[in-house]
Amino acid sequence: MAVTTAAAGLSLPAHDDPQLTALLGGDLLHELSYAFGGPFHVLLPDRFDANTAAFRAVLDEAGTDGHLHYAKKANKAAAWIERCAVSGTGVDVASAGELREALGHGVRGENIVVTGPAKAGELLRTAVLQGSLIAVDAPDELERVIGLGAALRPARLLLRRRPPAQPDSRFGLDDRELAAALLRCRDAAGAVRMEGFSFHLSGYAVQPRADLAGELLGHCRRARELGLPADRISIGGGFAVDYVPADAWDRFTREQRPEHFHADKTFADFYPYHSPTAGADALRAVLAARPAGASEPLAALLRAAGVRLLLEPGRALLDGAGCTVFRVQGVKEREYGIVTVDGTSLSLSEQWFNSEFLPDPVLVPGAGRSERIGGQGPFPACVGGASCLESDMLTWRKVGFPARPAIGDLLVYPNTAGYQMDSNESPFHDLPLPPKVVIDRGGDRPRWRLDRHPSS
Ligand SMILES: *Cc1c(COP(=O)(O)O)cnc(C)c1O
Repeated sequence: MAVTTAAAGLSLPAHDDPQLTALLGGDLLHELSYAFGGPFHVLLPDRFDANTAAFRAVLDEAGTDGHLHYAKKANKAAAWIERCAVSGTGVDVASAGELREALGHGVRGENIVVTGPAKAGELLRTAVLQGSLIAVDAPDELERVIGLGAALRPARLLLRRRPPAQPDSRFGLDDRELAAALLRCRDAAGAVRMEGFSFHLSGYAVQPRADLAGELLGHCRRARELGLPADRISIGGGFAVDYVPADAWDRFTREQRPEHFHADKTFADFYPYHSPTAGADALRAVLAARPAGASEPLAALLRAAGVRLLLEPGRALLDGAGCTVFRVQGVKEREYGIVTVDGTSLSLSEQWFNSEFLPDPVLVPGAGRSERIGGQGPFPACVGGASCLESDMLTWRKVGFPARPAIGDLLVYPNTAGYQMDSNESPFHDLPLPPKVVIDRGGDRPRWRLDRHPSS
């Protein structure tokens, strides 16, 4: 097949990851593919632990009193919340099911933050009974929380701020609603404990987070003047993940055009797969930034105000903590290849947000094929799912594979734990949901187990 320079020139390999390389080099992935007879996700909880430790180290280094909450919607696995329970990391939940999961795996109620709009009655009731911190999103929700707090036990709450810079956001309270809510909390002091304010911003920029955190400190001051505790703020999530090196990303963003994609597909935008400041480093930058109008960095302002910083990272805590494995089920040759795998793009959620998960899938040859991989030159191919939908593409981009994939090879999508694995999965076409395999590295050798047993 003729190799177009277009396809060969747009590779976007993920950052080197020795743990992933070791996994790809052994037999385990092929064994598991054979055992499950379909795609599966691999989870690496020790990486989750390392990421939470990195965030905590940044708080310590900046002398910031803070508490980390894992935003559970980023991945449904039990493995993460088991680690949270043990390490004292909190969890951010937004449904009764997520709250049950967190409590059931041992996370203490007081370490849980409840976010989301117009929360269900069961969710609010359990949250109040368990002493969880409720981020109130609307005036009518505040009334429901006050009612539950009066009936059951005083409810702990934050007031969620609608970001002034994102006025179209459907979340949070504006200035007028915030002022009224503070008076309501003062008048209902026996039923609620108003602990502070929260926000969650779209995007990954540092300065807007520092700016809005600075504004919330002003709200804490005014709340305290009303006699309310207001001793913490939550700056939500949105700490970027750095998936690919800068040079490959720059080239991709400069050069990508429709013919690089199957069916000349175009995309309005992509996740920023390269970020110079990502994960815990982004928190360091937020703490070091001076909020608009302030003469000191955020860390110093928090300390001076005696305000605790709450964080709700999702994606960033899952960086490097998993991958997704498909088996090649067929290869069509046109002007470029069309590889079909044994699962669907529902297991790669980015594909369902009018965008594309861009880090290159890694081709792992089947038994006896490794010698054929080298020396053939790139084979450009897109990757489709085993469904009857034109739109079910795991990768629209023509990836420059090092050799022609063959039936029985594996395609491993790297770094998929954050949002890619399960937010959109369904048993479409009566295909089974991909199981989640946890690799534990505690003992003398890595061992695997299922994240959940089929009956649970
Ligand atoms: C989704 C969400 C988060 C997590 O966002 P990430 O980008 O994964 O860090 C945190 N807080 C709230 C309120 C959210 O809705």
